[in-house]
Parts: sequence; C-alpha cells; structure tokens
Amino acid sequence: MTQNENPRIESPQDGIAFIEGKYMALSQACVPILDRGFVRSDATYDVAHVWKGRFFRLDDHIERFFASMKGLRMSLPYTHQQIADILIECVSRSGLRDAYVQMTCTRGLPPVGSRDPRLCTQRFYAFASPFVWISTVEQQRKGVPMIVSAVHRIQPEAVDPRIKNFHWLDLTMGIFEAYDRDAFVAVLRDGDGNITEGAGFNVFVVKDGALCTPDTGVFEGMTRRTAIELCAQLQLRCEVRPVSISEILEADEIFMTSTAGGIMPVTTIDGKPVGTGMPGGVTARIQELYWRRQEEGWLGTEVTYKDGANQG
Ligand code: PLP
Repeated sequence: MTQNENPRIESPQDGIAFIEGKYMALSQACVPILDRGFVRSDATYDVAHVWKGRFFRLDDHIERFFASMKGLRMSLPYTHQQIADILIECVSRSGLRDAYVQMTCTRGLPPVGSRDPRLCTQRFYAFASPFVWISTVEQQRKGVPMIVSAVHRIQPEAVDPRIKNFHWLDLTMGIFEAYDRDAFVAVLRDGDGNITEGAGFNVFVVKDGALCTPDTGVFEGMTRRTAIELCAQLQLRCEVRPVSISEILEADEIFMTSTAGGIMPVTTIDGKPVGTGMPGGVTARIQELYWRRQEEGWLGTEVTYKDGANQG
C-alpha cells in the first residue's frame, strides 16, 4: 500500500501542540535540528496531566518548570499565567478529557559558528496528547515485575535530577535490561548501595505498614509529592531518606509514582514476589485516594472545552 491509500484522518484528539506562537496538530510540530535542545539535551520540561476534564496541580507544575529553567539559566518571554493559558488552550482544542500535557524550554539555536550558550534565545513548545500510562490499568490489577538495574543513575553532582531533563540514556538502558531479564521496569542504583528512580517514575517501598522513598539522586516527582501528602491524610508514616537495595528486595509492597499513570503497584523484584505477590493494601489505599481526590477537584483546574466535546 502506498502512503496515500486509505489515509488515516487526523483528529484533534491525537494531540495539539503550541510552537512558535501557533497551535497545530501535534504531528505537524517540529523543532530545528540544530536547536541545542535536540543536539545537546540542553532543555528542560515538565509534564502535567488532565483527568476527567481537569488539570491536576497545574500551578505546581508551572512553578517547578520555572524553577528548572532558572537552574539551567534559561528564560522565556511568558509569565506563569500565559503558560497556563497556553496549556489549557492545547487541551481545550484537543477535546481530550484525559491528557498528558508537556511544556518544554530548549536552549535554542546558537549563532552560526558559536558554542556560547549565553547567545542562544530559548524556545518554548507545549502539547497535549492522549493520557500516558507507564503501566496500564490492566497491568495495575496484577502489578508489574521490576528489577534493580546494574545501571547507575547519573550522579546528582553531574546533572541535577531535580531539574527535569532529557538525560535519559541511563534510564533507557535500564529499560533494555528489564526486558532482557523478563521484567517490565527497572529502578536504577546509585554508587552507595541505594536505589534511585526509574524511567519516568519514583519508587516507594512499604515495610511493616510504613513507607519510604529516596531523598536524593532523584527527580522530586509531583506524584511523589502527592503520595507523601496522601500518606499524611491517611495517617501513614512516610520517610524521605536513603533507601537501600536490600530494603527494596525485602519490601512488603513496592509502588511507582508518575504523572503518567499515578500510583502503580510492583509485584515482583528481581524475579521474586514482593510480599504476597499481589498489589498490597497500603498501595491500594493510596491509589484509591489519589484518583478520588482528583475526581473531587482537589488542586484541580477546570478546562473549558470549545465545543462542549467530551464533557461530563
Ligand atoms: N523521575 C523521572 C526521571 C521522571 O522523568 C519522572 C517523570 O517524568 C518522574 C520521576 C515522576 O515525576 P512526576 O510524578 O512529576 O510525573
């Protein structure tokens, strides 16, 4: 079949992007290949989500995005509110009720022949696309297999993981290792016998009813922050501190947290069952409250859809 036969009609629900001051179909959006964001991973980004027509923690995501840009000595000609308006507009135009919404700032193009990052003008783009699940709702019923990867997470002294970045080669090699070892996800180690995080998620370990999650060497995920707050609401003890590899291997429960899927149970670690080998009760309580709070509108920002599509 040639490309033109039976072409798929593109719908706004495939995604809407904003770039160079214009809204367009996500599939049409592109950046110049000499932008340092592309050739040097010289970029920062943030990802928020929309659930049932409402952004969750939109202001917190934009605040974190501005903090990341500051950390990388980048700036944009947009205010916090203007970025919020652009993101809401992308979702509104897409008609998506459940969406994955990314905002990105790249270093931009240097003048010809220059390597001086101070001379670049930063570029902004954003998009709304269908919601992304690291593990699907179906996989969450059983939990997914995880490994502790042999790969070390990039040292925080080299690339600050609290600034959301495109340095994903360590995380990507962890994914390959997970598949090679019949697992689905990998958590990377640091150089001191502790766990860090995985590709797009933070990790929580439950032992004897109390939780812990790594304090350093990780991106301080919005879902991690939310899970810590939900633990307080549920009167569960949650410590933010170094978590050793032996602790995760002996956990009663393990779960991942991410904007891309929420609270996601892990039921084997390095080929052995975690606890009973089924998603655990503490994980289930936090997961249930996570989605319930969003449906109640907690920290939510309503999207107004242009044509009323997908509402209600
Ligand atoms: N860790 C890394 C490396 C990530 O890239 C992400 C999200 O993309 C997370 C953790 C989870 O962060 P959040 O809960 O804000 O989605």
